[in-house]
This record gives sequence, structure tokens and C-alpha cells, in this order.
Amino acid sequence: MKRNELMKPFDLIVVGGGILGTSHALMAARLGKTVALLEKNNRPQSATVRNFGQVVPSGLSGRWHGYGRRSVELYKEIHQEFDITVRAAGSVYVASDAEEWQIAQESAVIFAQKDFPNELLSPEETLARFPYLNEFYIQGSIFFPEDVSVEPDKMVHRLISYSVQKYGLKYQSDSAVVACEPKGDLIEVRTSRNETLQAERVVVCSGSDFNLLFPEIFAQSGLVVSKLQMLQTYPLPQIKMATNVLTGLTLRRYEAFEECPSFMKLSVPAHYVELKKWGIHILFKQANDGSIIIGDSHEYAPATQVHELGFDVKNYINELILDEAERIVNFPVRGIARTWAGYYAQHPDEIFEKEVEPRLQIVTGIGGKGMTSSLGFAEENVGRWFEKAN
Ligand SMILES: Cc1cc2nc3c(=O)[nH]c(=O)nc-3n(C[C@H](O)[C@H](O)[C@H](O)COP(=O)(O)OP(=O)(O)OC[C@H]3O[C@@H](n4cnc5c(N)ncnc54)[C@H](O)[C@@H]3O)c2cc1C
Repeated sequence: MKRNELMKPFDLIVVGGGILGTSHALMAARLGKTVALLEKNNRPQSATVRNFGQVVPSGLSGRWHGYGRRSVELYKEIHQEFDITVRAAGSVYVASDAEEWQIAQESAVIFAQKDFPNELLSPEETLARFPYLNEFYIQGSIFFPEDVSVEPDKMVHRLISYSVQKYGLKYQSDSAVVACEPKGDLIEVRTSRNETLQAERVVVCSGSDFNLLFPEIFAQSGLVVSKLQMLQTYPLPQIKMATNVLTGLTLRRYEAFEECPSFMKLSVPAHYVELKKWGIHILFKQANDGSIIIGDSHEYAPATQVHELGFDVKNYINELILDEAERIVNFPVRGIARTWAGYYAQHPDEIFEKEVEPRLQIVTGIGGKGMTSSLGFAEENVGRWFEKAN
């Protein structure tokens, strides 16, 4: 940004260029507001670029299912104008035993009541459509044609470029925000480069970074950080996996399935005990280069103890993930090109929203649903903020 651009007050300053911050910035810019988006790193490199890129309203319940569906509409609409890497090939959840198949069948009824298209597939139909699955693993499956996926390492960067080009978003990277406070009728923001910006309203979407701003609020917030381990194979061009693949442990984990009458009665088969201890459920997602992203696990720490999660990737957990992956698919999963850990913040109230001062708001802790629901959620938030203001 040029110096004179920084000096005029903005309608909105957004702190944090992950999917949640970028969604708020874009949605406000679409309303014709002047918006600045400040990111501390050279490029966003946290949860938003370390995930699967599965955009799966099928996994969400309550209002988040609705935000997910609206986000899918927005992703598709934007992708028609500007390549943000959206691929529309649905998701399949593969049941591996009678209990999981029961959940899949019950969820089909619940989703039908929500007018969310889905299709129950027999083992034969599942194998015919998804021939990379192991026949003995499949008890049946449920397919959701409206889910989409995006390339996680590219999508948010392209969404920011789109927002800059189409709506005049002012985006500045390498700009850690170190202070936000009221100044007269405005909110003043100071960066680590000693620049000062002002806006009518500021929203802090700082993900799992609790040290730069409002550490005392985050310490009391009830926010928890989850560490996830992920793996990615070398390209496997012989595999054609356009669809997001989710599996039995996912049917036992995602909130959408908690609505099923049998969910509370699920047992824990002996084979799952160690996997559940590490919060493992197995997802597959093929990237555009043909490689397959495989994950994930979940370890947790409160906001004040995030350091306890460490920066290491545990080989023991990766082996558990790969052993279970080998049970599910028939392609070689052990040709691993890279592994990494991702971290996201979550909150028992589904998300953490706090008005620190009038028109200075923290919004973070969207948990494992940010790629799916942020656009729809942000659209509602900025609509409410600016409707009130007008
Ligand atoms: C391994 C993994 C797999 C996942 N898979 C999926 C999936 O398939 N589908 C799905 O829907 N969700 C998935 N998620 C969840 C999703 O990635 C998160 O919900 C989402 O990325 C959170 O976005 P965010 O913007 O809140 O946080 P972040 O992505 O952490 O972004 C926060 C940004 O704020 C910046 N920042 C922080 N403090 C400051 C400051 N003071 N000044 C300036 N900038 C600052 C950071 O540098 C960062 O770029 C997954 C998450 C992980 C980790």
C-alpha cells in the first residue's frame, strides 16, 4: 500500500490473512466498503494453507451447515470469474462396519429433511465409482454431490488477489499488528513496522496466535489449540480421485452425524482404540499434481499452553495413519513426499467472538470447519455490522 492510502481511515481493517480474515475482508469489500487486510507473514502460512481443502457442508450441523452451503455457492460464483481452484466433485463417506453404515443411513434421512442432496451406495456401487477403495473395507457409503474442494496451498492467495483486483482491497503482508485501540471515533491499529492505520471498525482474525494482541483476553477465553498431523504422497497419476474421500472414523466423529439416533450408541471396536486416542480419522484428498493428501490426528492444548504441542511430527502417529489408510485404499500410500503439522484454534461455543471495545472485535477459533464455512459466516457478520452502521 502507498503511504497516502494508509492515512485515510478505512471502513474496516481486518487483522490476519487466513480464510476467516480474508472472508471478512472480501465480504465487506463486496458491500462497497473500503477495507485493509493486514497479514503478519510474507504469505498466510497457518491452518488455511496446511489443510485438505475439503469444503464439506456434509460434515456440519446447525447454522454451520447453512454457512457451509452458502460458502459453496460463493466459492463457485467467484471461481467462475477468477480461478480460486474450486473442484466440484462431491464427497463420499465410506462405512466400514454395520454401526457406521447405520449412521450413514440415518444421516441420509436427516440430510434429505434439510434438502441437502445425498445418495446411499451399496458396496458394489461404491467400488464401481471409487475403484481405489479396498473391497473388504466397504460396508456401504453415502455420497454428497454438492460438496466441493479447493487447493489449500493456493486458494487463499488467489482469493486475496481476486479481492484486490475486483474490489480494491488494500492488502499488506509482512505487517504484524501489535496494537489496536480506540482513538476518538475511530479504531487505531499499529503494525510492527510502526505504521498507523485507522478504521471505523476492526476485526481480529488471528487464528491460533495469542501473543501479539490481547494475550490476557485469550488466556481467559477458553480457546483450545488442536495440532493435526498430515502426509502427502508423491504424485500418483494412475489414481483419479476428484471426490473428497472420508471414512468410517469420520462418520464416528463429524458433528453432522451426532444428530443420528444411533450416534450415542456407537461402540468403540478394539481396532479403533489406539486411533481414537490420537484423534485419528482418515481423509484423502487428491491435489492437482496427482499427489494424495492423507490425514489426520488431533492433539489438544489450552491457549496458554500451546507450546506443549511442540513443533515435531511424531512418526508413531504417522504410522498409525498410514496403517489405517492401507486398510482403506488399494494404492501405495507409503511413498510419502512430505509431512507437516497444522494447528487451529477452537472454542466450546463453536467460535470465539468478543467485542473488546465498541467496533473492535475478535473473531477466531472456528475450529476444523474454517475452509467450509468462513465465507458464509463472514457474509452474515459484515452484513450485520454495516447494516447497523447505515
Ligand atoms: C491439518 C488441517 C486440516 C484441516 N482440514 C480442513 C478441511 O479440509 N476443511 C475445512 O473446512 N477446514 C479444515 N481445517 C480447518 C481450517 O484450516 C481452519 O478452520 C481455518 O484455516 C482457520 O482459519 P483462520 O483464518 O481462523 O486461521 P489461520 O489460518 O491460522 O490464519 C490466521 C492468520 O492471522 C495471521 N495473524 C495472526 N496474528 C496476526 C497479527 N497480530 N497481525 C497480522 N496477522 C496476524 C497469521 O499469520 C495467519 O495467517 C483444517 C485445519 C488443519 C490444521
